[in-house]
Amino acid sequence: MEEAITGLSALSLDTNISPRLEPAISDVAVPQSPGSGVESSDSEEESYAESHSSSDSDDDDDLARAAWSGPPPPLKVYVPLLPAGTASLFDASDSSLEAIADMVATGKAKNVIVMAGAGISTDAGIPDFRSPGTGLYDNLQQFNLPHPEAIFSIDFFRRNPKPFYVLAKELFPGQYVPTQSHFFVKLLAQKGLLLRHYTQNIDCLERAAGIDPELIVEAHGSFHAAHCIGRKCRKEYPQEWIKEHIFRDSIPRCGVCDSLVKPDITFFGEGLPSRFFELLSEDFAKCDLLIVMGTSLLVQPFASIIDKVGPRVPRLLINRERVGESKALGIGFDFDGRHNISLHRDAFVAGDCDEACALLAGHLGWLEELIAIRTGYVGKQQEVLDPI
Ligand SMILES: [Zn+2]
Repeated sequence: MEEAITGLSALSLDTNISPRLEPAISDVAVPQSPGSGVESSDSEEESYAESHSSSDSDDDDDLARAAWSGPPPPLKVYVPLLPAGTASLFDASDSSLEAIADMVATGKAKNVIVMAGAGISTDAGIPDFRSPGTGLYDNLQQFNLPHPEAIFSIDFFRRNPKPFYVLAKELFPGQYVPTQSHFFVKLLAQKGLLLRHYTQNIDCLERAAGIDPELIVEAHGSFHAAHCIGRKCRKEYPQEWIKEHIFRDSIPRCGVCDSLVKPDITFFGEGLPSRFFELLSEDFAKCDLLIVMGTSLLVQPFASIIDKVGPRVPRLLINRERVGESKALGIGFDFDGRHNISLHRDAFVAGDCDEACALLAGHLGWLEELIAIRTGYVGKQQEVLDPI
């Protein structure tokens, strides 16, 4: 995203949500004080911040699914050492996941919003188009892209749409299986607890997992439909029509004006789907538990909406690294109670989203149901593959 980095803080647009998709970088540092945390799993003292500063991260949040390279780190539930006198929503003797499970079990959290990024789809096996050495990356090299993310630049697409359609063929929905994280969100929906699932992902795996589309906001669009990009035309085309073109390796063009037809994926430089803005304020005002999973919170305006929930609403981040933190009160996560000593409400679980979802489901007593949902999905897939 080199060309588009604007110097915007990922967390600077709290009150003015930009309608356009913009890469952003966080200019806020992860707290670095020594001994600022203990892991609940083994009580071994360790400053998580010390060993996982934000500068370690080279994870960009991308619009397609960039698989993270390497095995996931072991799951760590971060327990901060809060400043004396800080009130916390999480009992320091428990893990924050247990505390959150308790909030759900006791009815304190019944309007849950999940915000998701690429990390929830890691285990779906979607190829990484940005890592040298992978087949897809090598395949895209022939197009001389200035950088991999140029595939999602609307200006580049107008000039050279072919690389995007090569990628679209690989990513097209129907080829990948939802992960445990998707099924956990489905379970939240089944329990009547999911207010909305806001996803940056374009893989449609939420739909594939069986989550009611009404409960999903595809913040960066999806392959579900397509439109002509002609400014005056904008004719809509169904998914099947564009799929046929993409799988025939032909560039889809509008039958009315001959402009390119593009799946409704939001590119850099384009506005987000109106549904995102229509639902945002009402949803976040109602929310009583925010779960943010598998995102580096590097793309605006998605990154800044974590602050749209009320000031006493607990927020849980499940991610490989600490992200979205700020030095200012009320902007970004405050895992260590550095800015708000009147109420500590941000929890962090480091590691794999699927593992964390399974652990949370375990605390909730839902593990068997989670497994059953996944088993049922796989069974249905098998019926499709082996019709009787
Ligand atoms: Zn047209």
